[in-house]
Amino acid sequence: MGAPVTVSPGSPPLLSEGEPVLLLDRQGRRTLATLRAGRTVHTHRGAVRHDDLIGQPDGAVVRTSRGDRVIVTRPRLMDYVLEMPRTTSLVYPKDAAFVLLWADVFPGARVVEAGLGSGALTLALLRVLGPHGSLVCYEIRPDFIARAQANLERFFGYPPTLLIRERDVYQGILERDLDRVILDLPEPWRVVPSAATALRSGGILCAYTPSIVQVQQTVEALRQSGAFAAIETLEVLYRPWVVRGDVVRPEQQMIGHTGFLTLARRIATPADALEVPDLAPGEDVDVPG
Ligand code: SAH
Repeated sequence: MGAPVTVSPGSPPLLSEGEPVLLLDRQGRRTLATLRAGRTVHTHRGAVRHDDLIGQPDGAVVRTSRGDRVIVTRPRLMDYVLEMPRTTSLVYPKDAAFVLLWADVFPGARVVEAGLGSGALTLALLRVLGPHGSLVCYEIRPDFIARAQANLERFFGYPPTLLIRERDVYQGILERDLDRVILDLPEPWRVVPSAATALRSGGILCAYTPSIVQVQQTVEALRQSGAFAAIETLEVLYRPWVVRGDVVRPEQQMIGHTGFLTLARRIATPADALEVPDLAPGEDVDVPG
């Protein structure tokens, strides 16, 4: 199995029973497994016994039943999300990354999310919120809740910072004094009035929608409410590259479209009273020097 790897005192613990791992072969093909003593995982390059993985350091190279080598590593959250079972379309990692920074989700924040779906965005939010944050997630479909809970538990255990409400968010948000409201459902404009009540002044609403018609309706509702300013819509274009010897070029295939993000800030004074312009990044901002 090659030279032994020394694990320094500061390294994370060795791979252990119950945790998800990712097996990568030399073609970059990926197999996700949750480690259980006595089990076997089947990769494109042959089988590997979990007993041969438990106790290995993260990043170990192991041999399969066919004698090929594969790497075993802890999955990044996005590796896990792309491999986990899904009942709905997901907020893709490129977009989830933007949600976290553009909606400025921070450790300890109080957040409402709707809907839960497969739990992809929920996982990203929970990790940033940390042990002192709070996430309340609205979802109308009990069968989706069960699947998403299984996805969350497999990655995290069940985090005490999460409350799932089996409830129609169009009927209103029950929480108050929220820092952020994050929406991924068909009619986010219907949540704008209750989000205006539920968000604290300065709080941020972020809606993820696949269609530009949904964007238009959401922006219209945000404007009409008079409770939001700094309204902004964007999409994230992600283009990976191949860098192999003389082949240095973009990948030939891209994901052409996922969704749009629309963001807005809850303000204390009605927007009309101030005539606040919408603010796009890089626009209307004086940069010293
Ligand atoms: N963001 C999720 C995917 C959400 S898909 C992820 O990344 O995995 C949209 C979800 O919104 C679906 O699960 C759907 O059942 C739920 N939904 C639709 N309308 C809703 C409503 N009015 N209240 C709560 N949830 C709703």
